[in-house]
Amino acid sequence: MGAPTADTICAIATPVGEGGIGILRLSGEKAVEIASRLVRLRSGRSLGSVRSHQLYHADILDGGVGDRAGPQALDESLVVVMRAPRSYTGEDVVEFHCHGGPWVLQTVGEALVRNGARTAEPGEFTKRAFLNGRLDLTQAEAVLDTIRARTSGALRLAQEQLRGTLSKELDRMRDHLIRLLAHVEATIDFTEEDITFIAADELTSGLERTMVEIAGLVESGREGRILREGVTAAIIGRPNVGKSSLLNALLRTDRAIVTPIPGTTRDVLEEVLNIRGLAVRLLDTAGLHETDDPVEREGVRRSQAAMDQAELLLIVLDGSVPLTPEDREIVAGCPGKKRLLIVNKADLPRRIDLAEVSTGEKGERPVPEVHISARTGEGLDDLRDRIRTLMVRGDLEPGERAVITRLRHEAALERAREALANALNSVRGGLPGEFVAMDLRAAIDGLGEITGAASADDILERIFRDFCIGK
Ligand code: GDP
Repeated sequence: MGAPTADTICAIATPVGEGGIGILRLSGEKAVEIASRLVRLRSGRSLGSVRSHQLYHADILDGGVGDRAGPQALDESLVVVMRAPRSYTGEDVVEFHCHGGPWVLQTVGEALVRNGARTAEPGEFTKRAFLNGRLDLTQAEAVLDTIRARTSGALRLAQEQLRGTLSKELDRMRDHLIRLLAHVEATIDFTEEDITFIAADELTSGLERTMVEIAGLVESGREGRILREGVTAAIIGRPNVGKSSLLNALLRTDRAIVTPIPGTTRDVLEEVLNIRGLAVRLLDTAGLHETDDPVEREGVRRSQAAMDQAELLLIVLDGSVPLTPEDREIVAGCPGKKRLLIVNKADLPRRIDLAEVSTGEKGERPVPEVHISARTGEGLDDLRDRIRTLMVRGDLEPGERAVITRLRHEAALERAREALANALNSVRGGLPGEFVAMDLRAAIDGLGEITGAASADDILERIFRDFCIGK
């Protein structure tokens, strides 16, 4: 990892634009020294002598010494020094709480660079926090997830991970394997004396237990990703069943705060809803029916693409009329996907008979149904509950349950599980302890990779480059 923390970095930590305040951050050995060149405290004290973690009123001046024009006032601000190691990065940190204008912040930032700081790379503050042992990797990822969270579910998960729930679980499993490894290695060392430090069945059950725990964590990943990233759903149904009415009814109350994600191309219209704390990206599939019109055909092609992309199909039916062949075809399509039958127009007398569609294909579980009226709003609460429980099973209230949130976690867990399976085979086959030890080490490394206890540089690069500058 070299010594990337040798220099002092700076960045604007608040979003670009106008705001009440804007914060510039400086971190590194020379943070106080560099800041001192620009800061004149109103109290007359020197910045080096102030108390850590306290705000001081200051003028920020550029130039001055040796500058014939005299110092130029850049801004009046509050300055706080946070001494190592009690800071976010674990290094000396100075923050300038300036007026929140883009020009002010840029000017002060440039002055800091002229005085010896370097502009930080994306995520570099958090990377330093990791390198200095303030956070482990899952916690660093949770910082990013907290910033990116757009729903209560995503935020809760991120906060749980930031508090270390996942790390603790992984560390506990890893410690257990390290203990097993120690016993196996002791047995190897004393093999001449024919002493065993751990009975084969004890070793077997220890390995099996950890494999079950890993499987549980892998299983949690699906839900973790859904909570973090949301689900993609498509509202489908033949014309006039009330798809647009339903979408509009949901948008009135559940529209999510979203910021466009750079680099995503959009083939279909989409809206993001916040349903019971879950981000639901709804793809608009207007015009899902057979047509000869070339323009409409393009619409149908896109609808099909939306359905293929969706993890959840919200199939809207008109409950006030009998099922049509088109309805049946739509319900029967994509049997592999999670589906929910939304029987609309519940304010009108019911004339639909669902028996034949809701049982699902042979051998399949019945397709759940919910009755609503997009017009009156009846049943919409029930619909929200259904969507949520269809996608995330367990209770997601804050708890001690460790949940993994990234494919990176899952891949490392899979590697660990495979290594343990090999170790188990070696034990059962009576192979020499060296074989068991080798696989145990691979499993320990796999778990360690997730928290960063054993991580290669390239993994670190990949994680931190997702961050914004200033974090
Ligand atoms: P889409 O083609 O599937 O998007 O259907 P629309 O949302 O455009 O609705 C078709 C027609 O059904 C419109 O005249 C709506 O006013 C009506 N409609 C939609 N939802 C309801 C409902 O819950 N109850 C009643 N009575 N009419 C509805």
